[in-house]
Amino acid sequence: MKTLNDFNFKNKKALIRVDFNVPLNENFQVTDATRIQAAKPTLIKVLEDGGSCVLMSHLGRPKGVDEGLSLKHIADKIEDIIGVETIFVSDCVGEEAIEAAEKLNPGELLVLENLRFHEEEKSGDKAFAEQLSKLGDIYVNDAFGTAHRAHASTTIIAQFFPENKCFGALLSQEIKSIDKVLKTGEKPTLAILGGAKVSSKITIIENILDKVDHLIIGGGMSFTFIKAKGGTIGDSLVENDKIELALDILKQAEAKNVQVHIPVDVIIADDFSNNANTQICDITAIPDGWMGLDAGPKTRAFFHDVVMQCKTILWNGPIGVFEMENFANGTIALGNSVSEATKKGAFSLVGGGDSVAAVKQFGFDKKVSYVSTGGGAMLESLEGKVLPGIAAIAE
Ligand code: AMP
Repeated sequence: MKTLNDFNFKNKKALIRVDFNVPLNENFQVTDATRIQAAKPTLIKVLEDGGSCVLMSHLGRPKGVDEGLSLKHIADKIEDIIGVETIFVSDCVGEEAIEAAEKLNPGELLVLENLRFHEEEKSGDKAFAEQLSKLGDIYVNDAFGTAHRAHASTTIIAQFFPENKCFGALLSQEIKSIDKVLKTGEKPTLAILGGAKVSSKITIIENILDKVDHLIIGGGMSFTFIKAKGGTIGDSLVENDKIELALDILKQAEAKNVQVHIPVDVIIADDFSNNANTQICDITAIPDGWMGLDAGPKTRAFFHDVVMQCKTILWNGPIGVFEMENFANGTIALGNSVSEATKKGAFSLVGGGDSVAAVKQFGFDKKVSYVSTGGGAMLESLEGKVLPGIAAIAE
């Protein structure tokens, strides 16, 4: 698997797939530049070698050309962050793009227009990928967020660079972090799975049972397990059609020597609302008319002890309805535990779906080892799938 460090970019044009799908406000200003910042190490390496960068990305979900989703709105932000003059070209293929790429000098950045203005991007059209491939000498994929899609610029294009293709710094780091939690991390290893539903995490659980020593199941999905074990869960979230599956998962875990930790108490509420009346309750005896919305104090302490024993930690999914202030404390406590374990030398990876929003909201993003930049791509990696964007470089 080639990385950036396998190439010297002097006088070369790096054609880089980045994920600059950033949020814009009504004045088309970038409101969160995290994704641009995340690509900086890759761009700087190419520029410092004496090369130039041709940047391709999608922005939003345009249906055809949509001025509101033009990458011209973010060119200034890229220039600010990278500190290099940025040239924008109003199409990602065609004569204008070819001419702009040809004129590009070492040390310069060219930003192509939104790839998804062409429907051939998402359909993975080979001729379109070939046109894109004319714009650079070395193909670099640094877009983890779209690595699970076999789009023209993320996957199909790689075949036009049989030797000259590599992962960018960000994508390499994502792959290393996933490998650490699934393969190479120091033991004991722990996966914390929270969030709403068992059904959306089944494949992850099944894949992970072969890799970890401990599994914490929290949040909405824990109630299906509690009911499966004979508990009374009141009006809590439950997937009745997954009860058998929950029992099967517990059996599989036992056979594989994985210790499963399920909440013992919960904060229950008489309404799905921040202003509901609340009580602390044993998780196996929730009265009718009440629902469990956050981990209780005994659970927080018990999860803390599990987290502190482990040297490699994966965290996916909040363990309560963190969007409501009164039900965020369990997730905050768990974030504190994971941060403390990290400070003591554990490796911690947070990623997939809503987890990133939760850790950022409570400021844990600086206190864990790595926060993944890809929601869907991380979930599919944890399910054990080989992502097409990664396979295309590795082949
Ligand atoms: P996911 O996308 O599967 O990680 O689920 C995240 C969602 O799970 C968040 O929106 C949380 O509000 C929700 N969640 C966590 N705990 C509970 C719970 N006890 N009851 C209902 N929803 C929950």
